[in-house]
Amino acid sequence: MPSTLLHGRFLTFNDRPEAIDDTASYRYENDGGIWVEDGLIRQAGTWDAVRAAAPSDAIEIDHRPHLIMPGFVDPHIHFPQMQVIGSYAANLLEWLNTYTFVEEQRFADPDHAARVATHFFDELIRHGTTTAAAYCSVHKASADAFFAEATLRNLRMVAGKVMMDRNAPGPLTDTPQAAYDDTKAVIADWHGTGRNHVAITPRFAITSSPAELELAGALTAEHPELHVQTHLAENHGEIAFTRELYPEAIDYTDVYARSGLLGPKSLLGHCIHLSDREAGVLAESGSVAVFCPTSNLFLGSGLFDNARLAGHGVRTAIATDVGGGTNYSMLRTLDEGYKVLQLQGQRMTPLDAFYRITLGNARALSLAEHIGTLEPGSDADLVVLDASAMPAMAIKAERVETLVEELFLLQTLGDDRAIAEVYVAGEAVKSGL
Ligand SMILES: [Zn+2]
Repeated sequence: MPSTLLHGRFLTFNDRPEAIDDTASYRYENDGGIWVEDGLIRQAGTWDAVRAAAPSDAIEIDHRPHLIMPGFVDPHIHFPQMQVIGSYAANLLEWLNTYTFVEEQRFADPDHAARVATHFFDELIRHGTTTAAAYCSVHKASADAFFAEATLRNLRMVAGKVMMDRNAPGPLTDTPQAAYDDTKAVIADWHGTGRNHVAITPRFAITSSPAELELAGALTAEHPELHVQTHLAENHGEIAFTRELYPEAIDYTDVYARSGLLGPKSLLGHCIHLSDREAGVLAESGSVAVFCPTSNLFLGSGLFDNARLAGHGVRTAIATDVGGGTNYSMLRTLDEGYKVLQLQGQRMTPLDAFYRITLGNARALSLAEHIGTLEPGSDADLVVLDASAMPAMAIKAERVETLVEELFLLQTLGDDRAIAEVYVAGEAVKSGL
């Protein structure tokens, strides 16, 4: 396979930026080069150095004046909710029962699942997201469709068949044993094929019986290499119902703790209404609290208290949560996340923001050795950003003088139109959509 040389400005983080002037946390090259070979990054540095190191017959692609970064990572999204997004509801439980639990039933049909999978990955690519952690539906067919399409596109994806055996319509429920068996089958069929990662995916405490959560915990113990994903403390009605269903648990977090579902590969969507005790349990277990700002605002769920969780030492990530979330774009997600924190007197610097959607989320998924940076050996999953992509951005860009200002413009006004190109394992894929 011939080498490719990308020419342009680039930005990659090596650690979480502590402040807006923390220049040690990232590498920025104004005249940069990225040498890609066999789907991996061989070298990233100054154009002159990389040009000299790469084979002379390498194909050169000029992305100047755009900004190249590692592909964006979305650690919480629902694949079967493409036709749920933008559904009018008062709150989480109404939204689930009225729209989501109806729509997800369609994913028993493999043809429907396959069609939506095609659109789903088109949309991720269009928005610059090259890795996501996704919920499928309860049906194994939905996970098969998801991973078949991810494999075809050679994407690094995390996903799981949802486990749910109660408090949902009959066609959308499994049994504890069926959930266990189907998840085992999805693991056998897909984990480690291509760049696929299977996640153990009990939807949340309300839709899983104690027996099912116990088996989800058994799967987690049998497969410590797998991610676990679920939802936690999103909405007051949800929390009250969970307490009724699990009276023996100390609190909502304890429901998952006593089932063996917490740990460094556990992704917990929302985590808005947590006690100090619960935050302490998350920190101690190394679990990840996933901030989903557009979803939390759309469903009126509440404001993610990043400072408080960080104070407890909880690992965090930021995600779209489509279809409760209202946009596939990690840029739009940063914009809304910034505002959620502003409302609480908390700041997210533009450097921190772009760290979060690249290396930060890669670390949250324990995948930083593969994605999230431009380190040699990393997957060549990249986005090319255009901060003048539309007239409103272009006129503002005339006043942009620094990298930080450019990033803030991208997150405040940018969407899929600001994603000029996307590379998946070294292949340009957005331009072909
Ligand atoms: Zn969700």
